[in-house]
Amino acid sequence: MKIHEYQAKELFRLYQIPVPNGNVASTVQEAMDAAKTMENNFPMVVKAQIHAGGRGKGGGVKLAKSLEELQTFSETILGMQLVTHQTGKEGKLVRKVLIEQGLTIQKEFYLGIIIDREKASIVIMASTAGGMDIEKVAEEHPEQIIKVCIDPLMGIQPCHARQLAYSLDIPASAMKSFTKLVFSSYLLFLEKDCSLLEINPLVYTAAGEWIALDAKVTIDDNSLFRHPEFKEYRDIYEEDPLEVEASTYKLNYINMDGNLGNIVNGAGLAMATMDMIKQAGAEPANFLDVGGGATQEMVEQAFKIILKDTKVKGILINIFGGILRCDVFAQGVVKAAQKTSINVPVIVRMEGTNVTEGRRILNESGLSLITAIDIKDASQKVAQLMI
Ligand code: GDP
Ligand code: MN
Repeated sequence: MKIHEYQAKELFRLYQIPVPNGNVASTVQEAMDAAKTMENNFPMVVKAQIHAGGRGKGGGVKLAKSLEELQTFSETILGMQLVTHQTGKEGKLVRKVLIEQGLTIQKEFYLGIIIDREKASIVIMASTAGGMDIEKVAEEHPEQIIKVCIDPLMGIQPCHARQLAYSLDIPASAMKSFTKLVFSSYLLFLEKDCSLLEINPLVYTAAGEWIALDAKVTIDDNSLFRHPEFKEYRDIYEEDPLEVEASTYKLNYINMDGNLGNIVNGAGLAMATMDMIKQAGAEPANFLDVGGGATQEMVEQAFKIILKDTKVKGILINIFGGILRCDVFAQGVVKAAQKTSINVPVIVRMEGTNVTEGRRILNESGLSLITAIDIKDASQKVAQLMI
């Protein structure tokens, strides 16, 4: 789960990671009030709160030198459709701004923490190329990014922080506070089950302080059950409406760009099916795993969600009946078809437990379905239909 910058900074405060003074605002009036609570100490920064980076370049971060400017910037940014390299061309609607105390930056750094699955460890990344598009730095100047691997069983040690500090050429006087910052970030990452923690830029101010100017935190969805405190952090406006709907039925659904919708049971089979669709020359409109133990109702909802997606021009059903029996699945399809008009062709490949019964239900349903006898046949039918 992604969270907003202002929420990530709340977590930072909890862990004594220094952040600028600031307040979040949903209206221009609230933005002005926030400025007043900071004693109109200009310059201040108006920052669009969306789940995407690159806001600065997209016009979503502005430095205001007066209350008038702060008002103007808040007016333009609140309600704008902010386009950055991470939002897609349609952009994202800005519903909140963070009003923050402006700082005098001496030097900008990058600090990030991620999980390296191959090494089964936590990796801290740092760079002196802070404040920039770090993906670009990684591509063009990988040597500018320092990586320190931490064995999670051993935990973070002072030598890790020293290694980072030496590589970044941090002055001795800033060493102690830097170590504290790195340790706090690591602890937050661990305790809050993050999959990403990124500070870009991490600034060293003229006053000799470390301050996280930006904050990006992603929480591992699988850990949310043990973090009730993050319930209020979820912002469904930032999510795809169909994905939100699917999650209420516990369906594993991800909306994609293609036009062939697909319903599959099991994530592995879903991945294989998407490969197959691509090989046939078509493009999947979604990833959808109804799950091994899906119920009839879940199948029905899955069907409805795919049919709501206006870019879908055909549907491929690929089911291997194991725990989810073919007859239960077929009943779900029939129920969904009765409630929604299917106006796109549907290819069905179904095998496994109770397949004869499942096929009988589909055949006698009166629905016009295209049956595929096996995966190869399904693939050929996809090619005939979609390209
Ligand atoms: P992003 O573009 O979405 O990553 O948003 P950031 O929070 O990183 O802000 C973009 C840029 O705005 C930063 O890299 C800084 O250069 C600049 N910026 C943000 N806050 C301040 C500030 O308080 N003072 C100054 N001088 N620049 C700031
Ligand atoms: Mn940034």
